[in-house]
Amino acid sequence: MERTYSAEFVKQAHKATIFHEKDILASSVCTCFYCGYQFDPHKEKDLEWWDETNPKGKTLVCPECGIDCIIGEASGFPVTDTDFIMICSEAWFGGISAITSGWPLSRRNVNYIEVD
Ligand SMILES: [Zn+2]
Repeated sequence: MERTYSAEFVKQAHKATIFHEKDILASSVCTCFYCGYQFDPHKEKDLEWWDETNPKGKTLVCPECGIDCIIGEASGFPVTDTDFIMICSEAWFGGISAITSGWPLSRRNVNYIEVD
């Protein structure tokens, strides 16, 4: 069944994708809103963080696609709800994310091919 979420809720969720080191480390599942990758940050090797010197906290980068739009369950948002993920992905990337385009997961060391 499809659930709906308010624009404000989606906006708040976007804020949880940055400076979220504490949330991420308190989560056992995190989701990437660009490519849809779900992972346990404690089991994933070589996590890459941005904003390492920011006093607000570090920002985790997706191990799959390298984009900084990861959200952890400890944020309180329904990170495993596919409807929620789809709505956020559409709102944040204007309908051109890997999720909304239906692209399969691919590690970022596989070079993206430029689309003419
Ligand atoms: Zn990703």
